[in-house]
Amino acid sequence: MSFENLGLAEPLLKAVSEAGYATPTPIQAQAIPAVLNGGDLLAGAQTGTGKTAGFTLPLLHMLAATAKPASGGRRPIRALILTPTRELAAQVEECVRLYGKYLPIRSMAMFGGVGMNPQIEALKRGVDILVATPGRLLDHHQQGTLDLSHVEYFVLDEADRMLDMGFIHDIRRVLAILPPRKQSLLFSATFSDEIKALAERLLDKPQVIEVARRNATADTIAQKVHPVDRDRKKELLTHLIQSNNWHQVLVFTRMKHGANRLVEFLLKQNITAMAIHGNKSQSARTRALADFKSGELQVLVATDIAARGIDIDQLPHVVNFELPNVAEDYVHRIGRTGRAGADGEAVSLVCVDEEGFLADIEKLIKRPIPRVVVAGFEPDPNARPEPIQLGRRVLHGSTGSRSGGGGRPAGGGGGQRGGRGPSSGRQDGRGDRGPRDQAGAGRSRSR
Ligand code: AMP
Repeated sequence: MSFENLGLAEPLLKAVSEAGYATPTPIQAQAIPAVLNGGDLLAGAQTGTGKTAGFTLPLLHMLAATAKPASGGRRPIRALILTPTRELAAQVEECVRLYGKYLPIRSMAMFGGVGMNPQIEALKRGVDILVATPGRLLDHHQQGTLDLSHVEYFVLDEADRMLDMGFIHDIRRVLAILPPRKQSLLFSATFSDEIKALAERLLDKPQVIEVARRNATADTIAQKVHPVDRDRKKELLTHLIQSNNWHQVLVFTRMKHGANRLVEFLLKQNITAMAIHGNKSQSARTRALADFKSGELQVLVATDIAARGIDIDQLPHVVNFELPNVAEDYVHRIGRTGRAGADGEAVSLVCVDEEGFLADIEKLIKRPIPRVVVAGFEPDPNARPEPIQLGRRVLHGSTGSRSGGGGRPAGGGGGQRGGRGPSSGRQDGRGDRGPRDQAGAGRSRSR
């Protein structure tokens, strides 16, 4: 199978070949012909599968093939791609630009946290493909600065994340302002009942394709656990970075303040590091991500929600400085590495408090993760587990002392998971609205 066989236009083939893609990934091999065929699509694919090219390539092909001559008036928005986070919107739009660089197609990313006026100006200049987060899109629509009445193609990307982040009402509102006749594509890593209900509402006799095994960890990712004492994790991380000469490391912490403290520590060790999480301004997050991608920044410390959808080519190292209390988050975290066939390594620093979280993760991925004690960092065999403080909540992450399964909040909670994490609140995902909107979400995923 080659890209040529998929029937894509020459300018797209040229861009794809320049991007270094030799063969289509499985999702691309299935989605591209399906979309070119004109029908609706329900696709099960996680990030890292090449799904973005799976929908942007055929969209670009169809838009170019039916391009309307630019005669006077404003170019209408013909394709809308909705994403859950700002970062993902920016990245998807970057892909549109990359693959569409030899086509006369204009695209724009639209998200909150930045001024409205430049976006209004860009809309006035004409946009064929709009990639947007729901909040800002609706703000523009309300103000009358956005016309979606000519949309022919609609993509809902990472639909399960959108629902996790509480965007269902916004999605419904967006659907209500789109023309009824359009080709719709829904991409989701998981197919929960909610996703099925959404698909039923949005899609007309969709072709269904699924490539990602749910909750499977990519075989290309080497995983290991370094058992270590709680108060020596920072030192061990520094040791690993320095002794292995790691240059691009994505490090996960559970909480924002933990991320900040770790960055301060690393900077003192002369390791360049920055944190991204919901309390950072959009410009700080964008800058951190850009510096990290370009290799200027050695370590990016992120919380789970902030890291959603981050796409960094062939990220070699992911470190779980702390294990997530929601096992599925482990799969998402390590999915940042070993993307599209590249090898990656995921290392977890685990102290005695987190044994229960580790057991939950191993149960989910259906395999044990090898333990490797690093010389000089042998954990104290007599150390006693302590409860884990998550904001105002206390979790018991150690085996035996947990009140229920799954690292859920002590004294209740659990339940209502349906295969995904507890709804993640809005602090990051809903970051395309102002801070007032973000307050008081009070849901239970930690950051
Ligand atoms: P995605 O799942 O869309 O986030 O893509 C994951 C990564 O795979 C991105 O970094 C893409 O640049 C890369 N990628 C997409 N398609 C291909 C392909 N056919 N061959 C190699 N890499 C690809």
